[in-house]
Amino acid sequence: MQTIVTDSPEEAAGYLNAGGIVAFPTETVYGLGAGICRPEAVKKIFRAKGRPADNPLIVHIPKPEDIDTVAREIGEAARELIRHFFPGPLTLVLKKSFTVPSEVTAGLDTVGIRCPSNAVTKRFLGFCHCPVAAPSANISGRPSSTSWKAVLHDLEGKIDCILKGTPSDIGLESTIVDCSGAQPRLLRTGAVTIEELQALIPEIETAVICSNDEPPKSPGLKYPHYAPVARIRLCATGEPVVSAKDSSSAWIGMSSPPAAGRHAFIRQCGTTGEYARILFDFFRQCDALGIDTIYCELPPDEGIGRAIRDRLTRAAAGH
Ligand code: AMP
Ligand code: MG
Repeated sequence: MQTIVTDSPEEAAGYLNAGGIVAFPTETVYGLGAGICRPEAVKKIFRAKGRPADNPLIVHIPKPEDIDTVAREIGEAARELIRHFFPGPLTLVLKKSFTVPSEVTAGLDTVGIRCPSNAVTKRFLGFCHCPVAAPSANISGRPSSTSWKAVLHDLEGKIDCILKGTPSDIGLESTIVDCSGAQPRLLRTGAVTIEELQALIPEIETAVICSNDEPPKSPGLKYPHYAPVARIRLCATGEPVVSAKDSSSAWIGMSSPPAAGRHAFIRQCGTTGEYARILFDFFRQCDALGIDTIYCELPPDEGIGRAIRDRLTRAAAGH
């Protein structure tokens, strides 16, 4: 299959409306989409990514008010979250409406829904004939794509089209809150922080976000994620880290590395926002350079720092 690369949202939507699968930019990471009214196209997403069939996709809507076309029984907490964070980097899990086929939700009665804020994404979704089911546009288990070139690297020849945009502003996947049960519950950390969620919904359950419990609340949580080919080593600030066994190593963090001269590649981030934005691209660059170990300094456990720590911990567990 030839993969068309375009900067026209209308052209990209044309491929999707014809039953194709199309990668597109968003403010979180790049997505790989199919129309929810095209179950056969939705299945192609799983094949292209090598994604386990029981890991559901997030449905993307162009406008907040479209939520009522894909979800039902939307409670007051969910309405409050929609008012504050749609459009934006928040996914809500709600009871699904009949318009969402089981291919999208992996057989669940609930569906994850997001309304992106990126202007190009909005234009693209506006040209699509139905809401767009999309996971991140990467090979399953690997770092998410935060640029169209990363998508091309992973998925060229496997998807119909890539809509070109700028690199993702946030660089980490959306925050996910499950509002389908009696009490709202955080399933994945992201740019909408725990502090912001608690300010709005004090009763939100935030404790279990990385659970391997059976059955997991969010099916995707049980699979390896975000891992580059290089080994990930997590370290605390100031910890001496380099091992004599590393033939080539890299460092990413907020401080300067304790053994700067030993690393082939270093990124020192000025803010946690910058750390989040460049993390997955840094992993990909390390793989391109043949780095064998990446030392990752854990950022403070607050704000988006929590989401960075979550992704780093899971990337480290992928080996
Ligand atoms: P990705 O967009 O690649 O990050 O994958 C979507 C994430 O959303 C996965 O971790 C899924 O498990 C999660 N997700 C999607 N739909 C649901 C749902 N109905 N219930 C719980 N988690 C969901
Ligand atoms: Mg993903």
